[in-house]
Amino acid sequence: MSKYIFVTGGVVSSVGKGITVASIGTILKSRQISVTAQKLDPYLNVDPGTMSPYQHGEVFVTQDGAETDLDLGNYERFIDVNLTAESSVTSGQIYSEVIAKERRGDFLGGTIQVVPHVTTEIKDRFKLLAEKSKADVVIIEVGGTVGDIEGLPFLEAARQMRNEVGRDNILYVHVTLLPYLNSTKELKTKPTQHSVNELRRIGIQPDIIVCRSDYPISEEIRNKISLFCDVERKAVIPLTTVSTIYEVPLVLEEEGLGQLIVDKMKLKPQPPSLSQWQELVNLIKTPRQPVKIALVGKYVELQDAYFSVREALQHAILHHERDLELIWVPSETLENNGDDSILRTVQGIIVPGGFGIRGIEGMVRAATYARENKIPYLGLCLGMHVMVIEFGRYALGSDEANSTEFNADTPYPVIDFLPDQKDEKNKGGTMRLGNYPCQLVNGSRAAQAYGQELIYERHRHRYEFNNDYRERLEKAGMVYSGLSPDGRLVEVCEVADHPWMLACQFHPEFGSRPGHPHPLFRDFIGAAKDILREGAQPPLPLSSNL
Ligand code: GLN
Repeated sequence: MSKYIFVTGGVVSSVGKGITVASIGTILKSRQISVTAQKLDPYLNVDPGTMSPYQHGEVFVTQDGAETDLDLGNYERFIDVNLTAESSVTSGQIYSEVIAKERRGDFLGGTIQVVPHVTTEIKDRFKLLAEKSKADVVIIEVGGTVGDIEGLPFLEAARQMRNEVGRDNILYVHVTLLPYLNSTKELKTKPTQHSVNELRRIGIQPDIIVCRSDYPISEEIRNKISLFCDVERKAVIPLTTVSTIYEVPLVLEEEGLGQLIVDKMKLKPQPPSLSQWQELVNLIKTPRQPVKIALVGKYVELQDAYFSVREALQHAILHHERDLELIWVPSETLENNGDDSILRTVQGIIVPGGFGIRGIEGMVRAATYARENKIPYLGLCLGMHVMVIEFGRYALGSDEANSTEFNADTPYPVIDFLPDQKDEKNKGGTMRLGNYPCQLVNGSRAAQAYGQELIYERHRHRYEFNNDYRERLEKAGMVYSGLSPDGRLVEVCEVADHPWMLACQFHPEFGSRPGHPHPLFRDFIGAAKDILREGAQPPLPLSSNL
């Protein structure tokens, strides 16, 4: 039977609860305890798929095609598991399921209430993941902050679980922020006390409090939190801000969190080994020659919108023992002959996923720049559409080549709905979501990167390469290096006669892990790292006998 760890948040959001959950996963896994994770999102949307990235950051896609919160990406990267739809639960899903059951008559004339009907539905989701994963420990992150109206049914369900599974099989971890007052130069514990009071009011006494702070946390503060919040002194775990998220598991282990969890939950672990993580952090902290990459996108003001892309670049950079200098370029600034001087300094250009017309022409300009100046280019999903539009304009000799997503009446719809998708379009459109197979063409850069011919990658898009243009673009030098096994869908394409210009219809960023960079990101950085740009100093010759 699985045991459960519930992680709640106090004081404010965005203090790194997701990374704490992911890191608890890492330190348990390092003891050979199998773990999985689940995120409870209190909003009423059924999933974040329809939410703007400005509201919610990146939409992370699981292999089985669920559109989820970006925290799931952190769980996957830290725990090194592939999660499924069961790991993502929203209030929207819970309520729509309860109401559907009521309509079907499943409750036989009963009055439907938050307790027990909604809370039972929530608990069923906990148990479903436990059963399906067979993990020793299921770590469940309650989204939002304690005290939010929407989060109450989730907390109530978490409370009820204690009696169902027994005290030794459940643990409550509360992550709070200790604000720093500049006037008195001290950290304050009062907000933490209040949020713990709020939790207790709901019936949950935390076993462990993880204290986030930008400043060192003194013994006195720890004692105070222990006394006022009624947790053991050793269960007050300080987590001061670190320079890389990959250091968090090391800090928590150092503070004794792993042993504490093992003892409190009576787990049977192997000795912990976090040496890979230590090596990773050492590597990140060693200054090295930077590789300058431009990320040209429409949501760059909110970097969380490209969370997995940034992480995948970071994993690839570490493989090449370099530093990442990532330049965030708002694509709109490149439009209408805007200033593109920034592109003259970068060694690689990446165009990530996205929806809607805003900023597209700026991305196309970046792709033209990459093609003409032979700068490595990696296009991800929308970034492939952009590369195909740009190449189409060049090959067909018309600026009107476009995707029907951006110009429904273009005479050259190089990206379009496929003929059998048109019906779906009328019904509102469905997306291709989750893992699909792709056959790589021998000898291509893609096949070289993966070192195998059949791959599976995660998708999230509606539009596809229009096969009517395959031949014409091929004649001008486009290579179709990855196709669906039936040959109907172009999944990867490359520009011949270019050092490295490749784009894929899927999202490789979701599959990259620290220590195992994704092959396409790895080879993109591999191609970019040796490119010399304006203002760059060529390395000095090592030998001085000149
Ligand atoms: N907007 C494009 C489509 O729907 C690309 C989506 C994406 O980049 N995820 O096909």
